[in-house]
Amino acid sequence: MTNTETNTDETLNENENEHETLGLDTTLEAVWRPSPNYQPRRDNRKPNILLLHYTAMEKPEWAIERLCDEETGVSCHYLVAEDGAITQMVSESKRAWHAGHSYWAGETDINSASIGIEIANPGHELGYPDFPEAQMQAVEALCKDILSRHDIPPSHVLGHSDVAPRRKKDPGEKFDWARLYRAGIGHWVEPEPIGDDIGLRQGDKGDEVRYLQKLLSDYGYLSGISGRYSKETVQVVTAFQRHFRPARVDGVADRSTIATLEKLLAALPAKQLA
Ligand SMILES: [Zn+2]
Repeated sequence: MTNTETNTDETLNENENEHETLGLDTTLEAVWRPSPNYQPRRDNRKPNILLLHYTAMEKPEWAIERLCDEETGVSCHYLVAEDGAITQMVSESKRAWHAGHSYWAGETDINSASIGIEIANPGHELGYPDFPEAQMQAVEALCKDILSRHDIPPSHVLGHSDVAPRRKKDPGEKFDWARLYRAGIGHWVEPEPIGDDIGLRQGDKGDEVRYLQKLLSDYGYLSGISGRYSKETVQVVTAFQRHFRPARVDGVADRSTIATLEKLLAALPAKQLA
C-alpha cells in the first residue's frame, strides 16, 4: 500500500454516486467505514478477480485511516484486522484503488476488475509476523462470502505480488493459500518436493528458460518469452513461489518450482486456457 496505488486516470475521477445508497455488501459481522477514494468500474465491469494484500502497517486502525483519507488516493474494499474484525470501506460495485500498476492474464486495469481485501500485517519490512488464526478464519469467511456474489474463477484469487511482482511481496509466503484452497477458495496444488538440482537462474538462456516463461505467461503472470532469465524472470518466479511453493522463495526455477507450475496449469479448467 503506497502512493503508487494512486489512481492517475483523470477520465475516471468522477464519483457518479451522489444519489446512491452504499453500504455493507457482506452479511458477515462488519463495520461500514466509507472511503471517499473510489469511482465507477471502467465500462461498468463486473469484478472477476479477488486480490489479497497485507497492510504493511503496524496497526489496522492506521491502515483504515490511510485508506479513508482523501489525500492518499488509496483505498480497498475490505480490511481484516488481526482479531478478525472486518471493515468495509468501498462498495463492491465500485472501483477501489489498491492494485496500482498491475497485470494478470491480459488484464491491466486490475482495480476495475477486482475486489480487494487488505489483511492487517506489518509485512516483510516490519518483522512479518504470522497471520493469527482469528484473522485467517475471518479472511476465509469473507472470501467465501465475496465469491458467492461474484463470478470469480478459482485461478483469479490472487495476491498483490502475483499481479505486481516487480513491486510487491504481499500477502507473502506466510499467507496460507493451501488452507483457503481446502475451504474451496482459489486455485492451488500440493507443491512438488524440493530436490538438490541447481535449477535455472538469472543469466541463463535457452529453450528451458523459454519454456518456463511460457508456462508463467500461460498461467497469467506478466512474463516475456525471451529465453533469457532476466531480473524480471527472477521477480516473477519469486512471486510464483510466494504463492505456490513457499518452502523456498529464491527466484530460482528448480525442478520443484517448474513441476509445481506444470501441475497447476494441468489442473486449470480447460475453458480458462482458451
Ligand atoms: Zn498490496
